[in-house]
Amino acid sequence: MAFEGLSSRLQNVFGKLRGKGKVTEDDVNEAMREVRLALLEADVNFKVVKDFIAKVKERAIGLELTKSFTPGMVVVDIVNKELTELMGGTNTKLAKSNKPPTVILMAGLQGAGKTTSSAKLAKLLLKDKHKPLMIAGDIYRPAAIKQLQVLGEQIGVPVFTLGDQTSPVDIARQGLQLAKDNGHDYVIIDTAGRLHIDEALMTELRDIHEATKPDEVLLVVDAMTGQEAVNVAQSFHSQLELTGVVLTKLDGDTRGGAALSVKAVTGCPIKFAATGEKIEPLEPFHPERMASRILG
Ligand code: GDP
Repeated sequence: MAFEGLSSRLQNVFGKLRGKGKVTEDDVNEAMREVRLALLEADVNFKVVKDFIAKVKERAIGLELTKSFTPGMVVVDIVNKELTELMGGTNTKLAKSNKPPTVILMAGLQGAGKTTSSAKLAKLLLKDKHKPLMIAGDIYRPAAIKQLQVLGEQIGVPVFTLGDQTSPVDIARQGLQLAKDNGHDYVIIDTAGRLHIDEALMTELRDIHEATKPDEVLLVVDAMTGQEAVNVAQSFHSQLELTGVVLTKLDGDTRGGAALSVKAVTGCPIKFAATGEKIEPLEPFHPERMASRILG
């Protein structure tokens, strides 16, 4: 399961601290040294780790720990709050246009989980009594259109396609028009990925953006790729003005570095967390719950 290594290491550090009647500045420093190592090993961006440790130390030492009855608990609580803050503080909700449909553009590298996450998002919207339409904008990967159609059928959400001979921009534009005509209140545009970020991909995404004026631009990144996911997010964000991140494959044995660094490095909130290949409703990402899970 994700975060296992980090989680058990932190629990170890804090187990020792919790047990102490008195906590000295040296104890805090020692604990922070171990937290720092645990975070680095979990593949958290080094600058993020540095800032994080500095913040926790500042708050912990300022608290005059000796006066507290449960100083160890106080330190754990500070770490919990800072971890939560690091991941964005609170859940950031999906945008809702006051002029429906709300348009959601899904972007990301090939294999990150865009198509799967599009269907999961549609399923979440269905659960909330919305009427989504999915648009098959990936005309390059041979099975992508079919994959979205199969998923759409499975969850009962229509999929708009014009095959693979029309440009993605035209597909997106016409799909959006159909959504308006048929009273869909959400539109999810699945787009093509590449193995790496390249100019053609960005140009295409910018063109679709221009044509559909999305309310949300969600970047789908694979948590298993760790710091690479953060680099990808940074590159996309600099060119596309992302509004949020969907972190996929949190069910795998990811060390968690991406989840803990994306927001701090890019400023872009993680809006959803995805687990599993089965199409279940996409789960809104809650930083406070994730922090508690990590700290056990
Ligand atoms: P795309 O190229 O970005 O559209 O990626 P796909 O949606 O086709 O997903 C690529 C592979 O990752 C597929 O085999 C999916 O079943 C799998 N996948 C997607 N999301 C998740 C996830 O959250 N957890 C796991 N374990 N697998 C996932």
